[in-house]
Amino acid sequence: MKQTPLSVLEHIFGYDKFRGQQEAIVEAVTGGDDALVIMPTGGGKSLCYQIPALLRPGVAIVVSPLIALMQDQVEALRALGVRAGYLNSTLSSRELYDNEQALQSGDFDVIYIAPERLVQARTINLLRHSQISLFAIDEAHCVAQWGHDFRADYLRLEVLHNEFPAVPRIALTATADTRTRQEIIDRLALHNARQFISGFDRPNIQYRIQPKDRARQQLIKFLKQEHDGDAGIVYCLSRDKVEKTAMWLREEGFDALPYHAGLPAEIRAKHQRRFLREDSVVMVATIAFGMGIDKPDVRFVAHLDMPKSIEAYYQETGRAGRDGAPATALLLYGFEDVVKLRQMTSNSEGSEAFRRAEQDRLNAMLALCELATCRRQILLRYFDDDLPEPCGNCDTCITPPLTWDATEAAQKALSCVYRTGQRFGVQHVVDVLRGEKTERVKSMEHHQLSTFGIGAGVSQTEWKALFRQLAALGYLDVDREFGSLLLTESCRALLRGEVNVELRKDAKITTKRGKRQAIEVDHEDLPLWHALRQCRRRLSEEYGVPPYVIFHDASLKHMLEVRPQSTQQLMQVSGVGDAKAQKYGQSFLDVLREYEYSGR
Ligand code: ADP
Ligand code: ZN
Repeated sequence: MKQTPLSVLEHIFGYDKFRGQQEAIVEAVTGGDDALVIMPTGGGKSLCYQIPALLRPGVAIVVSPLIALMQDQVEALRALGVRAGYLNSTLSSRELYDNEQALQSGDFDVIYIAPERLVQARTINLLRHSQISLFAIDEAHCVAQWGHDFRADYLRLEVLHNEFPAVPRIALTATADTRTRQEIIDRLALHNARQFISGFDRPNIQYRIQPKDRARQQLIKFLKQEHDGDAGIVYCLSRDKVEKTAMWLREEGFDALPYHAGLPAEIRAKHQRRFLREDSVVMVATIAFGMGIDKPDVRFVAHLDMPKSIEAYYQETGRAGRDGAPATALLLYGFEDVVKLRQMTSNSEGSEAFRRAEQDRLNAMLALCELATCRRQILLRYFDDDLPEPCGNCDTCITPPLTWDATEAAQKALSCVYRTGQRFGVQHVVDVLRGEKTERVKSMEHHQLSTFGIGAGVSQTEWKALFRQLAALGYLDVDREFGSLLLTESCRALLRGEVNVELRKDAKITTKRGKRQAIEVDHEDLPLWHALRQCRRRLSEEYGVPPYVIFHDASLKHMLEVRPQSTQQLMQVSGVGDAKAQKYGQSFLDVLREYEYSGR
């Protein structure tokens, strides 16, 4: 039978339809065209070269910068019955030799090669004596010299075009700004490539941003109620906070591990490995963790401190839900974050212009936090992408926040900052407003001020929320060195009563669910769900591969619905192709049958 893109998708990968532009890309590359593919994380880039690799004669060469991940990628392909391998420095010389021989004699469908090895004369020579179906250049943004992930070896990949002009090349990345895109085209000589550019949206990620109010309780509630037993990442700003949070989560019964640049390399490697290989590790980490982590079943990313820009927020939250199943991004933020980040940006190296740009990025992030309308629309607009309707899957869409006219309260707050000489942080100003006779208030004689006690009827928390929002709206600035509150130019109009401010009321922590949520299993299905996961864990140990290589969460969830009783029915389940049905099918059918008989 003649193989088609769709038959490969069904039989090898076990999926019944292509996503987005996948089909057009597969057809272009299979037909011999070059392609530039820009697709968000989790969009399904790998199939765009893996299917042409199986349809075209010869071996596909995949260039990938992260040696540590090659083994996982190869294992995932082998589980599907694809003849995959890799060439990199982790192999012994014997293994390298064997793989090179197999490559030449056509025993591989796909082979992953690190860029530095690929451009060596020896490798090029080897490829000249092999039949090559295509070149796939993954993480193609690594050619961008001013980018964060620049790799000098990527610049030399132009050699592929010169040496193998007849072999199609496909470059892929999730980094989509126009400048990077142009750099990829220029440096890889992709001027004739067809361009496939998808939007930025990650519809399966639910965005939630909440003010901090006993952050640990908020986190615990979130984990216990919505993500019990799930793998996820908790980001903190400092190493110290990472350690403490991880320890505390362990005491609370979570399998939490710390990760930051200050830990010895072997500990970091061990923790990363456990996170990748198991299905319910919570990684508590600084931003040192994450680059190239393409674990598909990360079900949540929680931030206990505010990221310093929307770009950072988007990249970090983007590590959740690559498999397309529901995932949650929770950010908890407070006034302290604003102060801390303002201080960090002002102390950073670089020109005044650079610092101002950093400041602007921070302000955009703050504005996103204080938003009363759809988060996703603003997030996407920031990247020049457009979402015409509110998304329905962010906190502000699910529970529209109430707003109130805060003009008078804001006037009180700002005049109190003024009266106390713009020399104090938020705590002291709130004490004065509320008429608290603290030691400090007495020693500064601030109980004599006209603003002393004018806000006694309002709680500390509410005043702090107000100050936070005024800072986010640009009415207040924070002194770089001491964290004291400063008035800005825009205060005048507000103090004179020329403008009004509408602010959002800090909502109580909601657990109301949106239409798409973390993987939700009906109560009566829970025992079967756990049994299926248990079965997956056992097979994962037996075969020495991560659980998601056996089946994704979405496939297990689908099994709950389909309740297959035969191999043929099992093949209807998304993600179950020929090889997996044969290899793992019986184990899962046994579990399902046992439940059917016991009448549960
Ligand atoms: P990317 O490299 O773009 O981040 P991947 O190629 O890793 O994304 O794909 C993300 C996930 O989506 C993988 O788990 C993959 O199996 C799944 N996937 C890709 N294409 C499809 C499809 N057509 N139908 C169902 N699942 C898909
Ligand atoms: Zn929304």
